[in-house]
Amino acid sequence: MKPVTEFRSPTKLTYTVSAGTVATEFLSAILQRRIVGRRCPVCTKVYVPPRPACPTCAALCEEPVELPETGTVTTFSVVRIPFPGQLLEPPYACAHVLLDGADVPLLHIVGGVDVNQVRMGLRVTAVWYEEPQPTLASIRYFTPNGEPDADYASFREHV
Ligand SMILES: [Zn+2]
Repeated sequence: MKPVTEFRSPTKLTYTVSAGTVATEFLSAILQRRIVGRRCPVCTKVYVPPRPACPTCAALCEEPVELPETGTVTTFSVVRIPFPGQLLEPPYACAHVLLDGADVPLLHIVGGVDVNQVRMGLRVTAVWYEEPQPTLASIRYFTPNGEPDADYASFREHV
């Protein structure tokens, strides 16, 4: 008899997440198509999505910071291989988008452009779904906004 080394079993897990104060502020803003981060009072880094405390300084981040929906692609990867549960049709580009005024990039999708045109330094703007939900996925993707590419030096510490 051969040993069983794998099996497939469909599973479904339904759960409810209780957002804290900072996440509630962020998700409430998303419902209004706004992006709100938080600034560390010690190192002044702006985190988005916001963090209750700075991971570097351990200081409480109590200052909300309104961020624009424009940013720069700092790095990216093109997904060309299909896999189970995939929500998008390959090929598509996953990217780190550093919003203007933020110090940490968001992981999101770059769309509305051929994946071969996606590059480091590409300037992008958020494209929202018509009716935002309390999730960062309310931004359908970031798309090139026609601005000249950002110089590598302007975002190299965020790559
Ligand atoms: Zn800090």
